[in-house]
Amino acid sequence: MNPTETDDLLARVTTALGEAQTVAEHHAAGTGFRDGATKVIRMVQAAITPPEPEDPRPQCGSCQRRRTFRDEAHPMDAYDYNPMQVLTGQPLGWYSGDDGQVCPECMTKMIRG
Ligand SMILES: [Zn+2]
Repeated sequence: MNPTETDDLLARVTTALGEAQTVAEHHAAGTGFRDGATKVIRMVQAAITPPEPEDPRPQCGSCQRRRTFRDEAHPMDAYDYNPMQVLTGQPLGWYSGDDGQVCPECMTKMIRG
């Protein structure tokens, strides 16, 4: 675990413990100590479980498909979109811009209908 991860973990545990204290106080005053304790344990467990690593592959904003690499089902994923493909009638590549990502299939639907 590197220092950044340790800081992140500490921050998450501290937040969870703060929330847990509120829940514990609420439950201690009300329905039962065990409910409160169970919630506290779940919150702390959630806080110390590292978050799922994000999938780094670009994702199509239209169909949510991830860009593939050497996948026969999506050969055009290997190519970037460029306007020449439209002008010359070639298959379209993967669009990647400041305004988002669009897979070749969705790009073809948008441009060629
Ligand atoms: Zn798509």
